[in-house]
Order: sequence, then structure tokens, then C-alpha cells
Amino acid sequence: MSLAWCAAELERLEMEGLRRHPATLSSPPGPEVTIDGRRVIQLCSNDYLGLAADPRVRRAAARAAEEWGAGSGASRLVSGTTELHRRLEAALAVFKGTEDAIVFSSGYLANTGTIPALAGKPDAVFSDEANHASIIDGCRLSGARVTVYRHADPAELDRALGSVDARRRLVVTDSVFSMDGDLAPLGALAEVCARHRAMLLVDEAHATGLLGPGGAGAVAAAGIPAIIMATLSKALGSAGGFIAGSHDLVEYLRNRARSWIFDTAPAPASVGAALEALRLAGEEPERRVRVCHAAASLAASLTALGYELRPPAAAVIPVIVGDAGEALALSERLLESGVFVPAIRPPSVPPGTARLRVTVTAAHTEEHLHAAVAAFAGARPRRMRSLPAARPAHDDPVLRAGGVFVTGTGTGVGKTVVSAAIAAALSATGIRVGAMKPAQTGASSGADDLTFIRFAARLPQEACRRPYLLDAPLAPAVAARLEGRVLETTEVTRAFAALRRSCAAVVVEGSGGLLVPFNDSTSMAGLAAELGLPVVIVTSPGLGTLNHTALTVEAARSRGLRLLGLVLCGFPADPDLAEATNPAELERLCGLDLIGVVPHLPFDVDRGRLPAAFSPREWLSPALGGVFARPPLELAHEPA
Ligand code: PMP
Repeated sequence: MSLAWCAAELERLEMEGLRRHPATLSSPPGPEVTIDGRRVIQLCSNDYLGLAADPRVRRAAARAAEEWGAGSGASRLVSGTTELHRRLEAALAVFKGTEDAIVFSSGYLANTGTIPALAGKPDAVFSDEANHASIIDGCRLSGARVTVYRHADPAELDRALGSVDARRRLVVTDSVFSMDGDLAPLGALAEVCARHRAMLLVDEAHATGLLGPGGAGAVAAAGIPAIIMATLSKALGSAGGFIAGSHDLVEYLRNRARSWIFDTAPAPASVGAALEALRLAGEEPERRVRVCHAAASLAASLTALGYELRPPAAAVIPVIVGDAGEALALSERLLESGVFVPAIRPPSVPPGTARLRVTVTAAHTEEHLHAAVAAFAGARPRRMRSLPAARPAHDDPVLRAGGVFVTGTGTGVGKTVVSAAIAAALSATGIRVGAMKPAQTGASSGADDLTFIRFAARLPQEACRRPYLLDAPLAPAVAARLEGRVLETTEVTRAFAALRRSCAAVVVEGSGGLLVPFNDSTSMAGLAAELGLPVVIVTSPGLGTLNHTALTVEAARSRGLRLLGLVLCGFPADPDLAEATNPAELERLCGLDLIGVVPHLPFDVDRGRLPAAFSPREWLSPALGGVFARPPLELAHEPA
């Protein structure tokens, strides 16, 4: 028998940077592990609650092995069902709020057994393109017609369901996606399924123990009808997978799921460990709060370092690198600096999206996270993934209106820096950009916001207008009154119209906050309305921002202004708890997207100094000429 082809295949994988060489650990799982005799910080384990090596869980595993044996001896249908197995299934049903549950030897087996049991040849399965491999394999095994729909896109699923005729239809999705860390739009998916009378199966491997009431998962949080799949191998620190649902469903699976029927029952040690971990997860809710905070905080720090990533819905933070070789090199540099996080390469992720899948656990301390951020700062590739070329779309709200009005929740929140960044990012898309400051106050002390914007965005002098210059550092209406002047709104509209003759978009920076008076009859909100411009609200990331931002948004909405979104200015590299959690909370509270995050950098508006790391396209969303991507968060982190 010649297996020379194996060696040839391995060589090909090696050349493509796709050969796997798993690290061998010589320590139990934990925030730190030993590799090749070195202690390193582990940022890749799914032991989210830090329970896998918890002494109480280990003891429970040992006790179960003592009492019930090392192996189960047979499959569940023969003699492998013990009271211990049934106890775990009952506890999982209570945890998930369902009538019953069925435990498989692994999550992989739960999916590959359940999907073919629910759908066969005359049926159709609809699967999110980012679903876990065990779902993909379950779909293949089912023999059903499989439609892969665009990631987290209920509208496309709706169309697909409407166009396929089948005996039964099954929709399958991860809730928290294993490689992307985002959350499926479960409410919308459930609605689409209800409309088409389709079954919905949700894989809660990365949400169980972390999201939802008591950590029950994202399905429980969304309150939707769904068949729940989850694992015991992640937050529950053991091994195994399960399906939770109605009596009939579970009893049907006991009769039809081949990976359950023909597999030896899970080992007693795993079952005993899972039972204890489930108890601890319930009794120590601070664990899941700590994980979600740590993930949000680490993600913010890595973003501030210039890494491209998506905001985590739970504990998975994907750092997208792109090229498989570069991802590997970054992982190696990190290991040299004492941080263990392997590269995830195709086929585990789509080609061109190789990444580091960073995860945090409740066992990571502040010191671990600081050290990790320092390692990422040092390992940063000299050339980060080149940003895709931005092209202004003609249905873009800024281009359609001919500009954007930048206001804020108050004075000093960074409107000028954000206006400069927007002007620079829009300019980089190749359009002609103008800038206007309707009234500059504080001129006696040298305030000159427009010059900073012109300098930062390299705008020609003639593309910048400032109808009014006032001495006192006060609201324009008040400063004008001191000088015995009256400011005319028509001056502003005339200057704007003049700029619009040569510029595709004009960035208009208001003074102070939204309701600051421009003159006795018009506020900044009134000016934005007069100019017909959509509004960007600049706000600060720290404590106190929720109330200020919510009030500003409410005032803007009540005046009929079109809101483009929120931009956070001055986001620190090392956010505190409020700063780490505010981005998601602001989006939820205001019902608005975060369309930009400008890091805390040494801007000097008065002296016209830009920091070396002035990269506005990375900070702003496509609507503002950038490439910043922050999908709206479907679910805020569940508090304790
Ligand atoms: N589903 C998802 C979303 C997963 O991430 C995993 C494990 N990586 C599984 C299922 C399989 O679970 P297990 O490791 O318990 O086989």
C-alpha cells in the first residue's frame, strides 16, 4: 500500500501555509499554560467561565469515575444510560427552560446526529454561511437539499425559504458565531421561520453560560421558539453536547439520532464534571459578567492599536489578518512575547480571512489582559491589512444631502477632531470636500477650528468658510450679543450654497452642543435643519455619556433631524469598565449605530498638530468615507 500521496499533500499544505502543527501543552487549561517549558498567557480556550480546571469540577469528575467507572461500557440504548446521565439531562432542561434534554458525547455529534434526524431527502435545510463545521457536516449527512444563506441575513433567508418547496424545512444557525464572535439576529430569524412554518435549530455553543438570563443563552434572552443545541465542552468546562427541547423532540432523537444511538454513552467523569460546572455557573454569576467585560475591554484595546476586529457579542474576538502566512507570523510573534493564540486559517474560515481567534475567560486577570495588549502592540504587523478602496456610493446620505452637520453632546467632546477626520476620510474617497464653521467663538484666545480641519484634511483655502468670528468663548448668540451683533441664518445658508457649487460634500461643524443658540431664534439643531443636512453626534466614551447622549438624540429626533449615528471621540487604549461597555449600551439606548470611534491621541487643535497615527478611514464607517465596521449589536451583555 503506497501512502506517498499523504506526504505530497502535507508538502502542499506546508507551502500554502495551511499545515497544522498543534502545540502540545504540559499543563491543565487555564489563563496561563505551559508550552515547551514556558508559561504563556492563553488567549484561545473556550473554557469561558474558567471551570475546566476548577478544583470542585475536577473533584466531581473524579468522584463520578470512582462511583460509576471510567467508561460507560455501551451505548445509551444498550446499557450506557445511568442515573448520572439522566440527572445531567434533567438539570440541562431546567437550565435551558425546556421539557427535556438529550446529551451526546460531543457537540460535534449533537449536530451531526440531530440535523439528519430532523431533515432527510424530501426536506430542505437552510444554513448560515458562517455556521460551525459540525452543522455543515450535519447538513451534508442529512441528504436534504441545503441552501447556504448570507451571514446573519434574515431577508435572504426569507427569499430562500419562499423559493424552495419541501416536505419539512429546517433553518440552522449558530447564536454566537464560533469564528466571527457576532450574534445571529435571532428575533428576525425566528419571525421568518414562523412565517414559512420552518423549524429553527440554534447552536448555542458560544453563548451558553455567558448570555441570557442566568447564562441560559441567547435563545432564552430573545424569548423565541427554537430547538437548542449547546455544548458541555466550553463554558461548562467538560465534554459533550446536548439538545434541549420538548419531550416529543427529545424522545424522537433518542430513536432517530444515529450519533447518539451508535455511540458509547459519555464517560461518567465528563457527566459528573458537567453537573458540577452547571451548578457553579448558576451560583457564581460574576464569572459570566467578568468574561463579557474582559472581552469588550480587550476588543477596544486591540481596535485602538489598529487591529481589525469585530465587536464581540460574548467572549470570541476575531482579529482579522487576511493572509494565512501573515496570521501565522503574527501568532508566532505573540508566542515569543508570551501570548498563546494560534492562527485560524482556511478551510476553518473563508479564504482571505485568516485570523487570530482571541478568546478570554473569567480566569484572566487585569494583569493578563494588560500583558496581552502589550504583546499585541509589539507584534503589530508593520503593514496592517491594506484597507479596501472606498468609493462614494451615490445613494450615500452624506452625498445625497451634500454634506453632514457635526454636533455633540456638549462642548469639548471632540467635534473639531471628528469633523477633521470626516473631511479627511471623505477627501480620501476622491470627492471634493468643503468645510464650514458657521460661527467661531473664542477668537480672542486664538480658537480656530476651521484651520485645523483644513490642515488635517488638506482642503484648499477656498473650500473653507467661516461666516462669523466672535471674540468671547461663549455660545454664538451670547458672544454676538456682547459685541452688539446679530447673526443671520441666511449668511450661513449662503456660504453653504457657495461651497456646494464646487464641493460634493461640506462638513459643517456646529458650536457647543445641539441646542446651543446660534441666534435668538435658531439653535445648532435649527441650522442643521436649515441646511438640510444629516447629523452626526459626537460623544465621549466615559462615565456620564449615556444620559448626555440619550438627551441629545431625543432632542434631535423631536426636531425631525435625520441622524446618521454616533461617533465616540477619545477612546482610550486601556478602557475602564464604563468605556468598555458604553459603546454597546449607547447603541441600544439611543437606537443608533456607532459609525465611528476616534482613539485617544495627542491632537492639538489650537496648534494645528496631528498625531502620527492619524488614520481617519480606519475610525469612520463607510457613510463617512471610512472602512470602520461595527454591526449593530442585537443584544446587550446580560448584567449579573
Ligand atoms: N458548535 C459550535 C458552534 C462549536 O464551536 C463547536 C466546537 N468548536 C461545536 C459545535 C462542537 O462541539 P464539541 O467540541 O463539543 O464537539
